[in-house]
Amino acid sequence: MTMQFADIIVDISHEKLDKIFQYRIPPELLESVTVGRQVWIPFGKGNRRMTGYVVGIRSQADYPIEKMKNIAGVVAGAVSVESRLIALAWWMKERYGATMNQTLKTVIPVKRQVKQQEKKNVRFLGSKEELTKLLEEARRRHYTAREKLLAAFLEHSELSYDRLQKEQKLTPSVLKPLLAAGKIEVITQTKYRNPLTVRPEVLGKSCELNAAQAAIVEDFTQRWQRGDLRPSLLYGITGSGKTEVYMECMERVLREGKQVIVLIPEIALTYQNMLRFYQRFGNTISILNSRLSAGERYDQMERAKKGEIQIMIGPRSALFTPFPNLGLIVMDEEHEAAYKSETAPRYHARETAVQWALLNHAALLLGSATPSLTAYTRALQGQYHLYRLTERARPESKLARVQVVDLRKELQEGNKSVFSRTLYQLMEEKLQKGEQIILFMNRRGYSNFISCRSCGEAIKCPHCDVSLTYHRNQTLHCHYCGFQMPLPKICPHCASPYLAGFGSGTQKIEETTRKWFPQARVLRMDLDTTTGKHGHEDILAAFHRGEADILIGTQMIVKGHDFPRVTLMGILAADISLYAPDYRSAETTFALLTQAAGRAGRADVAGDVVIQSYQPEHYSIQAAAKQDYEGFYEREMSYRRLLHYPPSCTLLTLLMTCEKEELLTSCSDFVEQWMWGRGERGLQIVGPTEASIYKINDIYRKILYLKHENYAILLQIKEELEAAAAAYLTAGVQFQFDFQG
Ligand code: ADP
Ligand code: ZN
Ligand code: ZN
Repeated sequence: MTMQFADIIVDISHEKLDKIFQYRIPPELLESVTVGRQVWIPFGKGNRRMTGYVVGIRSQADYPIEKMKNIAGVVAGAVSVESRLIALAWWMKERYGATMNQTLKTVIPVKRQVKQQEKKNVRFLGSKEELTKLLEEARRRHYTAREKLLAAFLEHSELSYDRLQKEQKLTPSVLKPLLAAGKIEVITQTKYRNPLTVRPEVLGKSCELNAAQAAIVEDFTQRWQRGDLRPSLLYGITGSGKTEVYMECMERVLREGKQVIVLIPEIALTYQNMLRFYQRFGNTISILNSRLSAGERYDQMERAKKGEIQIMIGPRSALFTPFPNLGLIVMDEEHEAAYKSETAPRYHARETAVQWALLNHAALLLGSATPSLTAYTRALQGQYHLYRLTERARPESKLARVQVVDLRKELQEGNKSVFSRTLYQLMEEKLQKGEQIILFMNRRGYSNFISCRSCGEAIKCPHCDVSLTYHRNQTLHCHYCGFQMPLPKICPHCASPYLAGFGSGTQKIEETTRKWFPQARVLRMDLDTTTGKHGHEDILAAFHRGEADILIGTQMIVKGHDFPRVTLMGILAADISLYAPDYRSAETTFALLTQAAGRAGRADVAGDVVIQSYQPEHYSIQAAAKQDYEGFYEREMSYRRLLHYPPSCTLLTLLMTCEKEELLTSCSDFVEQWMWGRGERGLQIVGPTEASIYKINDIYRKILYLKHENYAILLQIKEELEAAAAAYLTAGVQFQFDFQG
């Protein structure tokens, strides 16, 4: 029998995760020592008996065997949540080709003290009219500092004292007269506050489930009780009542004394959405979001472990909540790209949730109006159980009328505005009736790039091979290297004067809207307007209360909001996201458009949706207009199969980067030769080629794609390649691997 060795950490407080000790596994313990197991070990000079966790098992020792001690025994009793988390970290390391250290740091919360830091906000107490008056007065008297402060209140009624100090050099002497006059107040609060507290009398169900919803809940619960833990996918059109189904399933699981994790993409963690959960479950909920400090996060994780809360809601990382008795994981908007981590370990929350549910004997419920191709394929193959909701939950709510407008034709016929004639007419109509409008710009990632409306080319950075970003002062900037140039008057490619095209973003649209509809009240929401802690919520709440007629924004406004008075959704340039250099761009576009179209007509009045596009014939746009998920799925899957992209196979992307171009080239040549020389049946090799952004900040980038039906084979190749290319890695080339399947 071969000798086995265990890597052990003695304390899983974060600082000591790197400290790994190796022990021999005595033959009689070989069966019972597994990754994650808590074991007894002799430790230190005096061989004090301590407990530690096994984080790895190997057949070769890193230290002289004769100096190594034996594991003394396995700690008896139930497997703790720490053990399960370590087992999960092990699975992530294996699955995503990361190091155990990286995955442990991901799943085990950072131990930090919560600093009870005080935070001060300044709030304006008067009306808008008063504010305008005070502002004029400050201007007249040249009180510049006061003017700046008051001007800031025009945007938000509550401002952070810290930020004012930083950004405006605000001093107490500026506040004093306003405080004395009772126009403002300074509020002190500890930094963490439970985002919502709900009065007990409003707690409870908001509605009875309809037959379709109830049938799903019954089946789901029965399967859960039978121990059928196959993951479930709930595919339900927008507004079909998925959230109500989640909540009822949660209720059943909570009743059995088990806990629930609800994953929601950060962008949809909105007040409105959370309020529904609070009204149903009260303060048994905790919410994780990116605004929490590391200490606050740790605190919430500890509360979960101690049983002080029963439900954790949050983005991707909320998955690692150490509930002692997890019963259910709900993953809303399962198709969202944000569920994939873009730093090592590059895990996907869906796959990881499947594993975490398995380790906890918990159920997993995925939901979406536009399921990812991956999830839907698994459902069709029977790996997931498929539930459908095909009708709107509220019978009076109607699906919107959708029209697709060809922007090329608009331009040909002399309309240079960002609004097509159809959209313009509908806007006029809705404004007259006093109904609300959303204008949606689905740019992703890059903001405000300038493209030519005649030839379609974007203006790029000469050093980085990325589109330049437009800034208000008529200059173009590169976000990768800092290059700047003035905005050209004509297109560098075709000399057309129609430049500040659709890529120019929400600001431009706001200007145009105000020009064409001077009587309308307009709100804009994008990263510029939402940097304040509550900026986002303030704007949405104001729009919800009917304080504006038109809301202009990016995808932030289509996630998780319900605006009953919106009867027109204008999608200004539907195809922008089609140009992303990604095999999933059609899928992303379809999902965005379908979700956006689902926002209009949730109310009793049937809504209108106008999709403006330069490629109106594209199937993702056509299918979204018809809300035809199955049609889109069939078409897109046939491309994926043809071109061998996930989910028809696994894709391994290798990004090689290096400052020295020659070294990178020779490394990439080596990799290419090695790959072909190794040979593997069924392996497809694409590249290596220059990455779509070849140079960023003087670092060169090459990319290699490997496709195979068998995930395990790609993992194996990855390990072998790293070993074979070790000399290049030492010389300064860096490898980043990413699995998609
Ligand atoms: P989804 O999550 O699928 O978009 P929601 O759960 O948000 O759908 O439901 C859409 C709207 O319909 C919400 O306003 C919700 O309160 C309402 N609703 C859901 N289920 C029912 C029901 N059974 N009866 C009446 N209204 C419902
Ligand atoms: Zn051009
Ligand atoms: Zn650049």
